[in-house]
Amino acid sequence: MALRARLAVLYTSIVGGILLLLGVAVYASVSISLTSQVDNILNRTKDEIWPHIFFDAKGMLGVERVPALDLAPGLLFQIWGRQDDLIFSNVIQINLPFDNMGLNSSRQTFRDVYLNFATGSVHLRVLSVPLVLGESDRIVGVLQVATSLSVVDATQQALLMVLLVGVVVSMAIAGFAGWISTRQALAPLGDVTRVALQITRADDLSRRITYQGPPDDEVGQLINAFNQTLSRLENLFITQRRFLADVGHELRTPLTVIKGNVDLMRRMNILDEESMDSIESEVERLTRMVGDLLLLAQAESGKLPLNLQTVELDTLLFDAMQQMRVLTRNRLEMGLGEIDQVLVCGDPDRLKQVLVNLIGNAIKYTPTGGKVEVGLGKMGDRARLTVSDNGPGIPVEDMPHIFERFYRGEKSRTRQKDGKGYGLGLSIAYWIVRNHGGQIEVDSKPGQGTTFCVWLPLAQGDCSEIKIAEE
Ligand code: ADP
Repeated sequence: MALRARLAVLYTSIVGGILLLLGVAVYASVSISLTSQVDNILNRTKDEIWPHIFFDAKGMLGVERVPALDLAPGLLFQIWGRQDDLIFSNVIQINLPFDNMGLNSSRQTFRDVYLNFATGSVHLRVLSVPLVLGESDRIVGVLQVATSLSVVDATQQALLMVLLVGVVVSMAIAGFAGWISTRQALAPLGDVTRVALQITRADDLSRRITYQGPPDDEVGQLINAFNQTLSRLENLFITQRRFLADVGHELRTPLTVIKGNVDLMRRMNILDEESMDSIESEVERLTRMVGDLLLLAQAESGKLPLNLQTVELDTLLFDAMQQMRVLTRNRLEMGLGEIDQVLVCGDPDRLKQVLVNLIGNAIKYTPTGGKVEVGLGKMGDRARLTVSDNGPGIPVEDMPHIFERFYRGEKSRTRQKDGKGYGLGLSIAYWIVRNHGGQIEVDSKPGQGTTFCVWLPLAQGDCSEIKIAEE
């Protein structure tokens, strides 16, 4: 059954159930109150008759008659002797006891009875009172006072009708209102389904669902969450598409160079040394790129195998600087800022790769005569490693993207013809640092320089496990 129908049925049943309970309560309380009123009347009538009942000298029962006994119309009474003999009745038409069972009762009882006549039956409420002679407690007869319950029955029937009609009409109204209101409330869900289907059919993740209602109600929140999912999916698809295009592009260049050289050698039918060198360097470049991509894939999925141990970060930094110094070709100055002794938990090879990438970039992008400075210190329970340069800085529009795979700043793409970079260095650094439970930040002022800052948790005891910080 559709959700809408289910909700309408639920509303109707709840309203019906509540009204039914209410109806039963009203019916029962009205019936009890009417019956107790009748019982009061019967009791009062009994009290009226009581003083007029007497025993004659022979101990026979009797009752003084009119005018002393003037009962209200509709009130009937009988006096029965012990031998079930009718001693007195104020209705000549009825010579049977109003209530047969009441004749034998030793206590005062109220009972509902139906008296059947040829013309039909009469519903009576009967009060039976045993008549006791003197102090002996001997029951010598029974007084039965009765009145017709036709008015009470009619009232109960009318009430029952009103209640039943009320319940049915209220249920119908609740069902209809539920049906209409759920249609309004669930209409946006129809939009969600429609847009989801359109997205599937048209493969268009740029669509979003609009919602006219308040954004913080349940449907608004659902639509908001759905739109956020769409945005995320769209970003993922765009990234994936761009990644494929980037990989394709990066693979094509070296492959074209290799093919060109192989063709050349085949045509000339000689093993040209220069062509062989070129092929070798391109194959190296390809191997490096594939290796970097694999590393990145592992790091991004958090499955980067790390050979964890306590690492002296300052020693590692000196090693990396030593290794990178040759790259400066005395073109620029490379200096040390403040250096503390710092121990972190990590994989020394991977951490060195981070340093090499950051220092390498600083050297690569800083023009001749510039300066690259490296610093290391402690702040709280974290190590702070900085690589600064006074190069051209990173344009504001590039800043949000530099840690993305294959992202290369516009200037780097045009200026760097060395063919070494392909926009993976910072992504790798970012993910290695993340896998070590740290963060990497960048601060850059175009025209003044760039500072990369790596935060790593300081080593504290056992280095067998690293807790990766959530962003
Ligand atoms: P690649 O250096 O191979 O282009 P990276 O991922 O290492 O790739 O860097 C991404 C981009 O960030 C670079 O293309 C460059 O535009 C920018 N960048 C990185 N480091 C620096 C720096 N020290 N100074 C200026 N720009 C930088």
